[in-house]
Amino acid sequence: MDINYNADSIIVGAGPAGISAALEIARAGKRVVLIERSPHPGAKNMYGGSVYTHALKEILKEDFDLIKYERIITSHTWSFLNEKGSFEMTYNNNDSTASYAVKRFNLEKQLIEIAKKRGVYYIPNTLVKELLVQNGTVYGVKTELEEYYAPVTILADGVNSLLARKINLRSDFKPQDMILSVKEAIKLDKKTIEERFNLKEDCSNGVNKQYFGTNFGYLKCIKNLFMMTFLYTFKDTLMLGVGANLGDLTKNKININFVIDEVKKHPDIAPLIKGGETIEYSAHLIPEGGFKKMPKLVTNGAIIVGDAAGFINSVHFEGTNFALMSGKYAGETAVSALDSGTYTEQVLSAYVKKLENSFILKDLYSYRNIIERLHSRSNSLSVYYPNKIAELFEIITDANCISKASQIRKYMFDFLKERGLREVVKDMFAFSKCGADVFFGK
Ligand SMILES: Cc1cc2nc3c(=O)[nH]c(=O)nc-3n(C[C@H](O)[C@H](O)[C@H](O)COP(=O)(O)OP(=O)(O)OC[C@H]3O[C@@H](n4cnc5c(N)ncnc54)[C@H](O)[C@@H]3O)c2cc1C
Repeated sequence: MDINYNADSIIVGAGPAGISAALEIARAGKRVVLIERSPHPGAKNMYGGSVYTHALKEILKEDFDLIKYERIITSHTWSFLNEKGSFEMTYNNNDSTASYAVKRFNLEKQLIEIAKKRGVYYIPNTLVKELLVQNGTVYGVKTELEEYYAPVTILADGVNSLLARKINLRSDFKPQDMILSVKEAIKLDKKTIEERFNLKEDCSNGVNKQYFGTNFGYLKCIKNLFMMTFLYTFKDTLMLGVGANLGDLTKNKININFVIDEVKKHPDIAPLIKGGETIEYSAHLIPEGGFKKMPKLVTNGAIIVGDAAGFINSVHFEGTNFALMSGKYAGETAVSALDSGTYTEQVLSAYVKKLENSFILKDLYSYRNIIERLHSRSNSLSVYYPNKIAELFEIITDANCISKASQIRKYMFDFLKERGLREVVKDMFAFSKCGADVFFGK
């Protein structure tokens, strides 16, 4: 193709994936253009609030220390909610520096500053409308006002990735392959947050709470709602969010705003957010199709990274690390292709090899059936077992002067009678298959 390229590489979308790819290419001394539709970095983006430092360090290298965070996350809790309270597990590691609480617009803002310093040409407030394609090869992009030409284009345009759909790398998604999430940023006095969550004044610790179960309030009337709730501590803000399978919401005709309103009334959550003022409300999709719904990752002249490729492990709330690292691998691949002067699908497939050798495709592969398995038992997970666990702990903790052995025997007998051996076996089979998938993964 006889094209007068005005850049070596074009990146569409300045989320973690796009910025990481741009940085990698700029560090190699190539001309890279990073185009973002929103006027301010991060303005269109959303997450719970944890960015993982292993990936950040790999991307930023000596610039890592420039990243300002609000808290270091040292405590993780997993709670199973029921009508009266919860069953909770906590893991504290006071020395951990594995994840930081950073507000989203601050994350992108800081990353962009570093990228610009390293030579990335950043164009905000510009929507890429189309990819330029000739003879099956992507050779640039068309924005509202201009065209940009480069031999390698990296699509980092997030979950909807309309551009990949336009060139048939990806098919339309189905509602059951997406989580719809809403999040409230709730402002509270810093001291109040520290008292409620037992946190230090110097922000050297922080808490990520994850909640499961729908057996409370009006949510208990909804059958088969697969959802998760999170509550993260920042300096003077709490991030409270819920995510539910879009297919479940549509089938049950439920508005996600109703779900978060019910969550806010739960007796374990209400006291934690009491007196807080909601200063921000946002909604976003999360790709959940995983390995099975992955698009074609490369074509002549183009590579797909991050959420656009469906790289997320929603079981562990990991997304930014997948985005950052896939961006890095795409960047490395683009640099090698530029050095060799060939940009065919075959050459760019080196990106797929890098993904296969990394945690990205290994994890996506081993978790490929887990969401489906958990989803198929969502009533057990969300309603039945949180309730049963609560009943068991009621027996254990209630000194009611009745023999514990007789109460536990009755509990087990009632459990098997009410649930039925067949359903118990099905539950156990599904849950142990999830464990086996991870254990025997790639
Ligand atoms: C509720 C929620 C909670 C989450 N919590 C966490 C968490 O705690 N930790 C974690 O690691 N991950 C979390 N994630 C996942 C994480 O946010 C994503 O995986 C990550 O942001 C993906 O990065 P990305 O760069 O691929 O896409 P995005 O961050 O979505 O960036 C895509 C960018 O492309 C731009 N864009 C799109 N189309 C165009 C176009 N045509 N032209 C120009 N620009 C365009 C967008 O404006 C955007 O800036 C969460 C996600 C959600 C929704």
